[in-house]
Amino acid sequence: MALYEKYPVSISNSLSGKKELFTPVKAPFVGLYSCGPTVYNEVHLGNLRTFTSFDVVFRYLTHIGYKVRYVRNITDAGHLTNDAGVGVDRIEESAKLEQLEPMEIVQKYTTSFHDVCRMFNILPPSIEPTATGHIVEQIEMVKKILNNGYAYEINGSVYFDVRKYNEKHNYGELSGRNIDELLEGTRELDRQDEKRNAIDFAIWKAVSPNHIQRWTSPWGEGIPGWHLECSAMGTKYLGDQFDIHGGGMDLKFPHHECEIAQNVGALGKSPVRYWMHTNMLTVNGEKMSKSKGNSFLPRELFAGSHPLLAKAYSPMAVRFFMLQSHYSSTLDFSNEALSAAEKGFKKLSNALTTVKEMNHPFPILSKGRSTDSELEAELDRMVNECYTFMSNDFNTAKTLAVLFEMSAKINEFKSKNLAIFISEEAFNNFKHTYISFMEDVLGIKDEESHNQELMDGVINVLIELRKKARSDKNFALSDKIRDELKSLGVQLMDGKDGEMNYTIE
Ligand code: AMP
Ligand code: ZN
Repeated sequence: MALYEKYPVSISNSLSGKKELFTPVKAPFVGLYSCGPTVYNEVHLGNLRTFTSFDVVFRYLTHIGYKVRYVRNITDAGHLTNDAGVGVDRIEESAKLEQLEPMEIVQKYTTSFHDVCRMFNILPPSIEPTATGHIVEQIEMVKKILNNGYAYEINGSVYFDVRKYNEKHNYGELSGRNIDELLEGTRELDRQDEKRNAIDFAIWKAVSPNHIQRWTSPWGEGIPGWHLECSAMGTKYLGDQFDIHGGGMDLKFPHHECEIAQNVGALGKSPVRYWMHTNMLTVNGEKMSKSKGNSFLPRELFAGSHPLLAKAYSPMAVRFFMLQSHYSSTLDFSNEALSAAEKGFKKLSNALTTVKEMNHPFPILSKGRSTDSELEAELDRMVNECYTFMSNDFNTAKTLAVLFEMSAKINEFKSKNLAIFISEEAFNNFKHTYISFMEDVLGIKDEESHNQELMDGVINVLIELRKKARSDKNFALSDKIRDELKSLGVQLMDGKDGEMNYTIE
C-alpha cells in the first residue's frame, strides 16, 4: 500500500472554499503548477514564503509516493505594472534603469533567484518554463479565444471580453468577485480606454517599435498578456485539466481568475481541480512588498544589514520560521519570532545529528528482555502524527510540534539508552521518520552540511576563475588564486581532461 493511500491528503481548495479529499486525475501522477517570479528584481522574503510553501507540497507529495511533475514558471515578459495589461513593462523598466538589455535583466535575476532557492533548500521544479520560450503557444491560445468569440482585437491588441464570457460562464468563481460590482467600480476608466469594458484584460498587447521585447503575431508586433503565460504553459506541460495550481493569495484576483477564464474560453474546460493560495508574510501587519518599502532581501537577512533586522539570521533558521505557521495563515515578521525560530531549529538539528549516529543495540543488549509496549506505542503515535498532520492540508506547524516531541525522545534515547527497550523495527521506523521529515519533507538541513555545500560552491567558483585566468594567460592571477587557497589549507590538483579537484587539509 502506498503511503498516499494509508494517509490520504486533503487540501483546502480555494475554488470551493472547502477542505477536500485530494484525488488526482490519474494517480500516482500529480500535476502541480505554481506561479514563479517575475525576474525584474531580486525576490524578497515574502516571495520566498510562497515558494517555500509549494516546495514543501512538492516534497511531501513525492515522499508519500506520488509521481509529481512540478512546473514553476519564470515570468520574463509581459508583466506590466497594472494587472489588466496597461502600465509600464516591469522588465523593460528595469532594463532602462540598470542600462541593460531586457534579457540581461532576465538572466541576472533568474540566476539570483536560483541562488537564493539553493540557499533556502528550495528544490528545482521538474520543469521551469519561461514566457519568452512559449510565445507560439500563447499566440495559439489567443487565436482559440478569438475563434470562440471571447475576445476582440483593437489597434493591434487583443482583449478578453469578460462581459461576453460571463453570459455563459462565471467570471469571479475563484475570487468570489461579482462582475456587476467590478463593472460599477471601474466605469470611470471606461471612457478613456480602448477596451470595451474596463474589466477586460489584455491577452495580447501591441507595443511600439522602441519596446525592445516584442514578437510578431497575426495582430502585429506585441507582447503576450501576463495572465496568458500560465494558461499556455500549464496546459502544455500538465494537460487541459490538472491537479493543483498554487500561488500567493494576491494572485487569486485577477491573475488566477483570468487564467480560468482563458482556459475555459480557449478549451472549454476549467484547468485546475485544486487551487491553493498561500497567505502573506507581513511586517507589522502589512503585506511585505517592494513597493511598500518594507521588504528585505535574503542577502540583507544573512548579513543583518536591513534596519528592521536586529542581527543576521541563517537561511535554515528562516526556513524553519516560515514552516512554523500554516501556509494559509498570515505570518508576521519580527526579530523575536526569528530568534525563537533559530533556537527551535538548533534543537531539532542537534537531535538530527544525534539520531543519525544512533543505532539499535538489538539483539545484544535486549536479549531476553520483553519490549516496552507503551514506549513503542508512543513512538508509533508520533510517526503516525507526522503523516496525518502533513496529509491534513500540509500542516507544517503541527508537524514541527511533533518533531519537537520526537527530538526530546531522541535526547532521552541517548541519555537513558532507551533503545534497548524497544524492537529494532520500532526504533528504525522512528529514526527514519524523523530524518526523512526533517530533510526530505520539510527540507531542513543541518547547517554543517549546508555550509559544506556552500564551501564546495565557493571553491568551484574560484576554480572556474582560475581556469579563465589561465586561458587568458593571466598566470599572476591564477597563481595567486592557487597560493591563497593553499594558505587556507585548500590544495588544488589537476585531474583528468583538464578537470580540477581539491582537498582540504
Ligand atoms: P511576483 O514575482 O510578484 O509575481 O511574486 C511571486 C510570488 O510571491 C507570488 O506567488 C506572490 O503571490 C508571492 N508573494 C508576493 N508578496 C508576498 C508576501 N508578502 N508574502 C507571501 N507571498 C508573497
Ligand atoms: Zn501565474
